[in-house]
Amino acid sequence: MVSINDNYLKLPESYLFSDIKKRVTAFKELHPDARVISLGIGDVTRPIASAVIDALHEAVNEMGHADTFRGYGPEQGYQFLQEKILIHDFHDRGVEIETDEIFISDGAKSDLGNIGDILSVDNKVAVTDPVYPVYVDTNVMGGRAGSLEQDGQHWNRLIYLPCTAENDFIPELPSERPDIIYLCYPNNPTGTTLSRSELKKWVDYALENESLILFDAAYEAFIHDENIPHSIYEIEGAKETAIEFRSFSKTAGFTGLRCGYTIVPKELKLYNSSAEKVNANKLWNRRQTTKFNGVSYIVQRAAEAIYSPIGQTQIRASIEYYMRNARLLKTALQNRGLQIYGGDNAPYIWVKTPNGLSSWKFFDRLLHECHIVGTPGIGFGPSGEGYLRLTAFGRYEDTVESISRIQNWNL
Ligand code: PLP
Repeated sequence: MVSINDNYLKLPESYLFSDIKKRVTAFKELHPDARVISLGIGDVTRPIASAVIDALHEAVNEMGHADTFRGYGPEQGYQFLQEKILIHDFHDRGVEIETDEIFISDGAKSDLGNIGDILSVDNKVAVTDPVYPVYVDTNVMGGRAGSLEQDGQHWNRLIYLPCTAENDFIPELPSERPDIIYLCYPNNPTGTTLSRSELKKWVDYALENESLILFDAAYEAFIHDENIPHSIYEIEGAKETAIEFRSFSKTAGFTGLRCGYTIVPKELKLYNSSAEKVNANKLWNRRQTTKFNGVSYIVQRAAEAIYSPIGQTQIRASIEYYMRNARLLKTALQNRGLQIYGGDNAPYIWVKTPNGLSSWKFFDRLLHECHIVGTPGIGFGPSGEGYLRLTAFGRYEDTVESISRIQNWNL
């Protein structure tokens, strides 16, 4: 008899996107002529920059010639890409990182899920609430979340850090000490950010309490405000206490191409069961070299092209395109008297439902009355109830059309 990892059976079906699909399908059957616009799912719509496509073509051609063909590459990623990351994402911001602290991967989701491999099952985990569901589900799978409580919303071994309008979406330091703290800024789903001084509070807390911060910076490219750090390592001491995850998915439209990276600093303080300090960088390297054979050469060449002057200009244009959508949506919703959060330094807009409507009730009204699909906030955790997420990743024309519908909405 072969036993499975029972933790997988604890996970409830992920109903959020299938429920949304069901409701949208039912609506379309009743109203076949309605043009439904989706501002729900967080995928990009802009094509990949031509500088990146050119680099891809060139790399593909190299693979077809005996003298330029590449087989297995370094599991940690090619140095040509690590060096670009090092200079542009860190040194230019005054952050000292070394190339062997950068691990190139096929995206942030894999690394966020896999990082649990090197962390004990006994660790207590804290998540902000609402939250990107991957942090919770991967800890359920890894046996760190305990069991689901009666309310179907909370896991009894997780520490929840509510982020709502009441605390301005700034999580309060926990009363119970967590070993691992997930922070995601700019935040998905709320689109809110942490200032340098707020992030410093968390780094100081983690240093004092010997906690590990898993910092997800997948949306850092959307930051405009000078006071908002792009990397947790801009905060003094963070290299002793944080791992940072980055993604090219939203930065450069790589959701289909797949590439990202993770920084595991050599100074990071993690301990074995005898309370002796271990080298986390070495541990992660061991994990990656055993279980991962690296990102394809052609994709790493494509990622490298993002950092060329023309690549930078082109990806910035797409980011600006999305942020224009965000601004337009935000203004239109505010003009209708709705409470809106996020959308300034992130491609997400977090809408407070009016008149105390539940997330799903507001979702239904938006679908039936404006033919717009959002994502109910409750799908991101208990503190998401009473909110709805809209994304700025739609086409400009669709965003403008959505706005005109919202303007004429009998709210
Ligand atoms: N982290 C956050 C907060 C996200 O919203 C997403 C994607 O939606 C990811 C990570 C995953 O990024 P990737 O496409 O690099 O796996």
